[in-house]
Amino acid sequence: MARDRTAMQLERLKQEREQTLLELGRLREALKTEVDPDADEGDPDLVEREKVMALVQGLERKLELIDYALRQAREGTYGICERCGEPIDPARLEAMPEATLCIKCKAIVERQARVSSAAPQF
Ligand SMILES: [Zn+2]
Repeated sequence: MARDRTAMQLERLKQEREQTLLELGRLREALKTEVDPDADEGDPDLVEREKVMALVQGLERKLELIDYALRQAREGTYGICERCGEPIDPARLEAMPEATLCIKCKAIVERQARVSSAAPQF
């Protein structure tokens, strides 16, 4: 049983990885289009480009997480929250196969990230 589940998770992660790679390729292709070198800040082409670049960065990060999850799946630790060691909700993994934290820990980590970035830097 457990082995079947792992095989399914690996399959799902590989599919997700492939889709992410396709999307990345498409976006990187879009970035190759020339932008008028005289374009001013706030020019729609530049704004669009910024957006695509942000998307590319997000997807690259996602790819890293997927690779990480794939390693976990091979080791049989996939779907276990990194922070508290509890199993991650299968519905959450279904929606976000690269998740490495359960919903509770994710919320805590995000809150901490917000707090620390808002804190004055000395
Ligand atoms: Zn957790």
